[in-house]
Amino acid sequence: MQNKLFIDGRFVDAAARGTIDVLNPHDGSLITAIAAAEAQDVDRAVQAAQRAFPAWSRMGAAERGRLLLKLADLIEANAEELAQLETLDTGHPIRDTRGLDVPRTAGCFRYFGGMADKLQGSVIPVEAGFLNYVQRAPIGVVGQIVPWNFPLMFTSWKLGPALAAGNTVVLKPSELTPLSTLRVAELMAEAGFPDGVVNMVPGYGHTAGQRLAEHPDVGKIAFTGSTATGRRIVEASKGNLKRVQLELGGKGANIVFDDANLDAAVNGAAWAIFHNQGQACIAGSRLMLHDRIADAFLERFTALANSIRLGDPRSPDTEMGPLTSAQHRDKVLSYVSIAAEQGARVLAGGNAPGGELSAGYYVAPTIVEAGPRDRVAQEEVFGPFVTVLRFGSDDEALAIANATDYGLGSGLWTRDLARAHKLAGAIHAGMCWINCYKRVNPGSPFGGVGQSGYGREMGFEAMHDYTEARSVWVNVDAAMPPHFKR
Ligand code: NAD
Repeated sequence: MQNKLFIDGRFVDAAARGTIDVLNPHDGSLITAIAAAEAQDVDRAVQAAQRAFPAWSRMGAAERGRLLLKLADLIEANAEELAQLETLDTGHPIRDTRGLDVPRTAGCFRYFGGMADKLQGSVIPVEAGFLNYVQRAPIGVVGQIVPWNFPLMFTSWKLGPALAAGNTVVLKPSELTPLSTLRVAELMAEAGFPDGVVNMVPGYGHTAGQRLAEHPDVGKIAFTGSTATGRRIVEASKGNLKRVQLELGGKGANIVFDDANLDAAVNGAAWAIFHNQGQACIAGSRLMLHDRIADAFLERFTALANSIRLGDPRSPDTEMGPLTSAQHRDKVLSYVSIAAEQGARVLAGGNAPGGELSAGYYVAPTIVEAGPRDRVAQEEVFGPFVTVLRFGSDDEALAIANATDYGLGSGLWTRDLARAHKLAGAIHAGMCWINCYKRVNPGSPFGGVGQSGYGREMGFEAMHDYTEARSVWVNVDAAMPPHFKR
């Protein structure tokens, strides 16, 4: 199991020799201790990335793509090992890491491998006599900070477009879940990525992350994580005015109308909030139900939630595993008391299961019914915790959906197409799913508005976010009389 920093093509200890314990969320046992990068390690990594940039950015785009395609093949060739590692480190059930995280990671690298030589510039129709063309040029060294909720998949979301576009990278995985990302570093070396093109510096946010965000030679910082840390990143980035891309929290409104297919909506709502123990920025954490179907819906939904199989994430039968850290479990559980203090009703869960799961960071699937201004309807809980809100009309649904500072994912369940399209255009969110939820694809832009951040991952949007438009003017045959006649 790899546990060192990856700098300039080599696995090395941190200069200060510090380490961070990585724990198994199923039982709190020690998996390994990883090298803890600090500012001087980040500096070394940035220097390596700077040295690698000229050759990497000038390499044929198809050649860069070929390496990403090879990496995708290696991810698939090592799929079972990666799935087991991700499950051990994060607590994601093995059926999800096998069926979703690993295939999506390979798919993302493959998409951007194919994209490398598809991103084209343009020619602008300007005044006669001039040729004006626009190139998409890489930015340089980019810093990327990845959270703990989908560490493997987010590594591909971040690296794929950055590398395809010709940038070199210093990536900081979360100190809680660095293991699959470091395995990807090994596979990148095996694929033949030149030294220094990608460097990985696991370490704490306030040391390694902070240095990366403020580093004067980093041209862009891409961050996924909490809104509070996102603000710190913006603050740290201002020294050299680096570009910032933020993928932050959410409070997704998942709205079920009275004409919805209830079976599909109940299943979709459970997927929206309980997949990955609710640790997803796009989770449907506000379940909005039309008055006419609310009771019938909740009867089925609470029965489904109560029947979800919690357990050791390595067992193929497990449907929900532990949360990723003890601290986070405590934060999620604290929202049960917060909800109760404001008069909310707990309809399911609200506790940490005991027995053989008591040593792990488990939380039972939790459903509370609250008012739209209550804290549990406004703040991101980021766990298997859904807040039910009732509404009586489309206008009321829209008003409640838009009454948060976040704007990331949203969902609508209805058979009325006109209503669906009208509301999809009116909900303040970067993504809207109609009669489905949490669909992602490497070709489709992913990101938010408001306190959910700015910039987009995936697709051409991501390629644009990792390049600068460079405009070149050529005087082909324009007469240019002197402006200052003498
Ligand atoms: P966080 O934002 O603190 O951590 C995410 C990443 O940022 C980690 O790699 C961390 O080391 C790094 N980081 C922390 N402080 C930093 C700093 N000052 N400068 C640079 N990097 C820094 O998230 P957290 O504390 O682990 O989780 C808290 C909450 O964040 C969660 O409860 C959830 O609401 C939210 N969250 C959202 C996402 C998402 O996908 N949008 C992911 C993780 C967490």
